[in-house]
Amino acid sequence: MNFKDVRISVVGAGIGGLAVAYLLRQKGAQVTVLEQAEEISEVGAGLQVTPNGVAVLRAMGLADDLAWCAQRARAVVLRHHAHGREVLRLDLDQYAPDLRYYFVHRADLIHLLADAVRRSGVQVRLLQKVSTVVPGPRPAVHLANGAKCHADLVIGADGIHSRVRPALNAVRAPRFSGQVAWRATVPNRLGLPPEAQVFMGPGRHLVTYPIRDGSMVNLVAAQARRNWAEESWSHGDNPDNLRQAFAGFGGIARELLDTVDEVKLWGLFRHPVAQNWGQDGIALLGDAAHPTLPFMAQGANMALEDAYALVDCLAAAPDIAAALSAYQLRRRARAAKVVEAASGNAWKYHLRAPLSWPAHGILRLAGALAPQRMVSQFDWIYRHDETRQDRTAPRL
Ligand SMILES: Cc1cc2nc3c(=O)[nH]c(=O)nc-3n(C[C@H](O)[C@H](O)[C@H](O)COP(=O)(O)OP(=O)(O)OC[C@H]3O[C@@H](n4cnc5c(N)ncnc54)[C@H](O)[C@@H]3O)c2cc1C
Repeated sequence: MNFKDVRISVVGAGIGGLAVAYLLRQKGAQVTVLEQAEEISEVGAGLQVTPNGVAVLRAMGLADDLAWCAQRARAVVLRHHAHGREVLRLDLDQYAPDLRYYFVHRADLIHLLADAVRRSGVQVRLLQKVSTVVPGPRPAVHLANGAKCHADLVIGADGIHSRVRPALNAVRAPRFSGQVAWRATVPNRLGLPPEAQVFMGPGRHLVTYPIRDGSMVNLVAAQARRNWAEESWSHGDNPDNLRQAFAGFGGIARELLDTVDEVKLWGLFRHPVAQNWGQDGIALLGDAAHPTLPFMAQGANMALEDAYALVDCLAAAPDIAAALSAYQLRRRARAAKVVEAASGNAWKYHLRAPLSWPAHGILRLAGALAPQRMVSQFDWIYRHDETRQDRTAPRL
């Protein structure tokens, strides 16, 4: 498809929206991003950009910028919650040295993408809250302020509470997953190395990793519980509630939890993967198409993959309709598989004694006998390269 006279509106300036806007502009499309917020900003929290996400940033020419503002992950270490003793070490340096895996501050990734978008000539319009989108040959975008605009293609990258998704899909209420997550950042007073530490306790787990220049540590603390919290980034909580919920956690975990002075609480909900990702001049990507629980750290990485695939499909197809069908075919099954894997992952960290004893024993043994295999079990996620014809990163 020739992008020259194609006008595209992207709803949402999150990770997926900014990435798709930049990639479209590189192809020559006229792109406008509509963002509800008054500035492009992010709450202070970390993000794991895994090799499949890095592959897209590399194709965008932004991988070096990412490396500058992120910590390269050396290992993922599973630990017992009470004393912090190591259960399993996935040594990425040793067993996957060719893969690039980073810990980054969300705000740094957003700023990196937003700078690239602005430099490329994309128009970013802030304070533009979209209320509905009407499909058609020239789909219409209705804004909350009463204004209306048309485009050849509208891309819904407006996250978990998408206003674009209902234009193509029946609305189904999300289901509380029985888990909540607290998120916080604290100073790295312990000098923790660039490793993700997963402290596994009964009905809860804590993930920590350093971000920025290594001076801060990101904490994500997940707890299984009956009463739910709001599904929102901005819901604050008392840090003592977090400390109380993780009272039995000792060692490094305790020291980190004791330094938390500000925390956000996020209710984790299961949403179905959208049936329809693209039709009648509308496409969905990222959380708008497939909200993903954080237990595989894949939501933002999948949004990057979607962005690349959508632009690639548009470039290859004769028209928008054919491109949208190809896009859904290319992406839906993979996204659904990752969403499923993330939904099924938390319980593995949450086992209670006595079940946790044999489980940890098996992990220890597997780590000792087949460390390479323990790392390569995630190849289907990390070695997926959406920017290559065969979708697989070559092994070096
Ligand atoms: C606790 C937790 C930890 C996580 N950790 C990781 C991780 O380590 N790695 C990872 O890959 N993912 C992680 N994720 C998931 C990841 O954050 C999301 O999947 C990702 O941000 C989705 O990107 P997106 O661009 O689709 O949506 P978003 O980042 O949510 O962006 C949506 C944008 O659209 C705007 N918007 C919304 N509605 C409207 C509207 N009506 N009109 C105009 N604009 C609108 C919003 O303001 C926002 O800017 C985590 C999630 C949670 C909850």
